[in-house]
Amino acid sequence: MSTALVDDIREIKEDNPFESMMSRFDRAAQLLNLDADLYAVMRVPNRELKVYIPTRMDSGRIQVFEGFRVQHNFARGPAKGGIRYSPDVSIDEVRALAAWMTWKCAVVNVPFGGAKGGIICDPTQMSMGELERMTRRYAAELLDFIGPEKDVPAPDMNTNEQTMAWIMDTYSMHARHTVNAVVTGKPVDLGGSRGRREATGRGLLIVVNEAAKKFKMAPADTRVVVQGSGNVGGIAALLLHEAGFKVIGISDVHGGIHNAAGLDIPAAMKHLQATRSFEDFTGAERVSNSELLELDCDVLLPAATENQITSTNAERIKCKVLAEGANGPTTAAADEILYRKGIFVIPDILANAGGVTVSYFEWVQDRMGYFWREDVVNERLQDTMVASFNDLCRYADAHSVDTRTAAYMLAIDRVAYDTRMRGIYA
Ligand code: NAD
Repeated sequence: MSTALVDDIREIKEDNPFESMMSRFDRAAQLLNLDADLYAVMRVPNRELKVYIPTRMDSGRIQVFEGFRVQHNFARGPAKGGIRYSPDVSIDEVRALAAWMTWKCAVVNVPFGGAKGGIICDPTQMSMGELERMTRRYAAELLDFIGPEKDVPAPDMNTNEQTMAWIMDTYSMHARHTVNAVVTGKPVDLGGSRGRREATGRGLLIVVNEAAKKFKMAPADTRVVVQGSGNVGGIAALLLHEAGFKVIGISDVHGGIHNAAGLDIPAAMKHLQATRSFEDFTGAERVSNSELLELDCDVLLPAATENQITSTNAERIKCKVLAEGANGPTTAAADEILYRKGIFVIPDILANAGGVTVSYFEWVQDRMGYFWREDVVNERLQDTMVASFNDLCRYADAHSVDTRTAAYMLAIDRVAYDTRMRGIYA
């Protein structure tokens, strides 16, 4: 890589996910001594689509929403990635998330590239009818760009199985036949995969288990703290508890609970479901989300949102293993501090890849028209996550780098190899 390109590494704005991702990409590319042409091609998305989405609101008036779909890379297969609905969606964020998907799929060796989509909207202020009409028009705008062989969307923040069913139906209406492999994360009855809903949490259990074996930590003596109790954190906490780990802290957006002797996680999750809060849960003390992250523990599992471990609090993080359930919970500026403290990081692009792995299984099952038992899905997920964890540890050792850098290097190496073999159509 030329010095001019190395000089191009920009100053990182700590909370900008795109900048965070690019700084890690640049570091890994530099260590790999990536050819300058490959570097130029791989550091930018393949395609960015911006769409305006006229939507008839319940009032009878039309509101025009702005949406995006970024397709980052197709070198290893169709692009793959979620769609999020939020007032905060921006092209920068979608671009970062699309690139993350490319690296995530490559780390677990799933034959997909990366994509991500989003619509700037506030779903909490919209009726089901409005959400359905907006989703269908967005899907119609993407018709030429998505498809089982092109780009396969999935749920993300504020989108769910219902959203995927609407997209699948809209696409199928235009194709004139049912195409369930156009999206993943569908309801099981419409071609979804058994085990998909739990897959990200289960993937976390698998990699935490592998890390515990690596560091000879017995589950019963391994204290785990989980930030977030949704699809990822809640399920990971339940599965870790079930597997005999001692979960001592858990939170939601309003704060958390802590008991050094271990929490009754099934009871805590039931309490959360019944009361929509951990408040008043007996047998635990209340902690704020920032206190929770700084608790003395063996495994910290941030599974809520981005930018939770930063240069401000990284010094106070006390875990031995950091397993990143959320996407981008640690900023690039915090990486070095964690490394210096000797914390073993299982980076997000591996740790939370159980979801995309089972999405791949869903796509395979849809295309075969033959659906697997849940234990078969879980066993194949286990094989993929264990192999990827071991690949990562070997790669980090072989190149004497930290696991975050190793994950990016491994992913970029795989994408670069395939791009080189295909040749750049230039
Ligand atoms: P979710 O909406 O089901 O749950 C999010 C949880 O985090 C909730 O408990 C919420 O109360 C809490 N939370 C939200 N904002 C918070 C904040 N500022 N501080 C503390 N807690 C907060 O979402 P999810 O599906 O569990 O996803 C969580 C993270 O994992 C996201 O970063 C997502 O991109 C990532 N992820 C999800 C999947 C998946 O399959 N769902 C796969 C890979 C990565």
